[in-house]
Amino acid sequence: MKFYNSETKKIEEFVPIESGKVKIYTCGPTVYSYAHVGNFRAYIMEDALIRALEFLGYQVERIMNITDVGHLTGDNDYGQDRMLKAAAAEHKSVLEIAKFYTDAFLQDFKLLGLKEPKAFVPATQCIDTYIEIITKLLEKGYAYLSGGNVYYDTSKLKEYYRFGNQNANDNLVGVREGVEEDKGKHNQNDFVLWFTKSKFEDQALKWDSPWGLGYPGWHIECSGISYKYLGERLDIHCGGVDNIFPHHTNEIAQTEGFVGHKWCNYWFHVNRLNAGDGEKMSKSLGNVYTITQLAQMGYNPMVYKLFNFLSHYRNQLAFSLEGMDAAKNTYNKLLKRIAGLAKTKEGINKEAYDKYYTQFADALSNDLNTSLAITTVFDVLKAEINDSTKVKLILKFDEMLNLGFTDVINNGLPTEEIESDLRTYIETQIEKRNEAKKNRDFALADKIRAELSEKGIELVDTKEGTKYHKK
Ligand SMILES: [Zn+2]
Repeated sequence: MKFYNSETKKIEEFVPIESGKVKIYTCGPTVYSYAHVGNFRAYIMEDALIRALEFLGYQVERIMNITDVGHLTGDNDYGQDRMLKAAAAEHKSVLEIAKFYTDAFLQDFKLLGLKEPKAFVPATQCIDTYIEIITKLLEKGYAYLSGGNVYYDTSKLKEYYRFGNQNANDNLVGVREGVEEDKGKHNQNDFVLWFTKSKFEDQALKWDSPWGLGYPGWHIECSGISYKYLGERLDIHCGGVDNIFPHHTNEIAQTEGFVGHKWCNYWFHVNRLNAGDGEKMSKSLGNVYTITQLAQMGYNPMVYKLFNFLSHYRNQLAFSLEGMDAAKNTYNKLLKRIAGLAKTKEGINKEAYDKYYTQFADALSNDLNTSLAITTVFDVLKAEINDSTKVKLILKFDEMLNLGFTDVINNGLPTEEIESDLRTYIETQIEKRNEAKKNRDFALADKIRAELSEKGIELVDTKEGTKYHKK
C-alpha cells in the first residue's frame, strides 16, 4: 500500500511497525454542535483507508477521540469555550450538550456504515494521562508555568513546524483574530497544556492537578488518548487538512517531548469539502447539511459516501445538491445493474476474477484511488464474463466499499413500493422513535409514528425490533 504522507510530502510505501498490524489514531468530532457533511468527508475517507488496509490483509487497531472539553473557538488560547457557548445558548449543562451531539454524531456514523474504532474515547475520561504527560514535560524542560497556566515551550524543539508550510506569522493571534495575546507566553507559538486561569471563569468542567484546579488544553487530549490506548509509537495518524496546524503540529511536539523519540510514521490528511458556489461552508450561510438531513431530503447516506469516493481524498471537493443528484443517479444505476445479475451456479472465471481483483486492489494500493475502484465496479458490470464471476467480484469489492451492494445481491433492490431513499428516512425516524421511547418521551414517539402514518407507512413493533410496511 502506498499513500501520501503529509509529513514528508511524498507518496510512500506503507511499512507498519509490526508486520501485518496497523495502529491508527483519528481525530474525532468536537461535540458542541452537529457534525456536518464537511466533517464527515474526513471520516468517510479515513474509513476507506482503514477498509483498504484490511482488504489488503492488514489487521487494523484504531482509536478515535470525542472532544467534550477544552476546544476553543479560535486556534489560539483565548477564544470563548465552544461547549460553554453552546450550553448557554441551549440552556443545557455542558455534559448534556456533549451527550446530545455525541449521540447525533454516532447516529450519522452508523447511517454511513462506517466501521467503529476499537474505542471512541471522550477527552474527559483521560485526565490522569494528560497530567502524567504534562508532569513529564515540565520535568524535561519542555513546559513551563506562567500566570497559572502550563505552556509548551516550542523553542525547545529542533523542528516545531513538522509539516513545513507554516511560519511564525500564521499564529499571530492578536493581529489575526482581534483577541488579546497571552502575555505569559515565552514564545508566540507556545500553547497551553493545562489551564487554571482563563478568561471564562465559569468553565464548567474542572479537575484537580498539581498546578491547581483547571482543565486540559485541546491538543493534549489527542496526545494523551493516543498514548494511553495505542502506546508510544503510532503507524498512522489521520485527520482533516485543517487539523495540520496548529493541532497536529502541537500533538507531535507534546508526544515526542514526552516519549523522547519519533512518534508517528505516517500522516494521512483528507482535503476540505467546500460549498459548490465557491463559498465557504458555514452554518451562518445556511449551506451546511448533516447526514440525517440529507437522508430526510431523499439522499441515501450511501449516495454521499459515493459522492466522496468519486473524487480523490487529497483534492478539495465542492458540495452541491446538483452534485448529490448526479451521485444519486450513478448510485441507482449501479444498484439496478447489480440487482439484475443472475444468481447462477456457473463456475467462476478465475482469470477474469484475478484480473479485476488486481485492478481493484491496485487502485486502493495506489494512494487510495477510490474513484478508480468505483470505475472497476463499472468495468466488471460491463465485462463479457458470466454473472457468477461478477457477483463474486462485487461481493468482494463491497467488503471495502461498503456501499450496500451486498444487500442488493442478497435481498434484491429495496422493495418496489418503498424506494431506497424513503427507506433511509423511515429507518432514521425509527431510530429517533426508539431513542424517544428509551427516554420515556412517548409523546415524541407517537408523533413520529403519526408522521410516518401520514406518509402511508405503518410501523409494527416486534421482538426483533420495529418493522414497517406500506399501508
Ligand atoms: Zn486530534
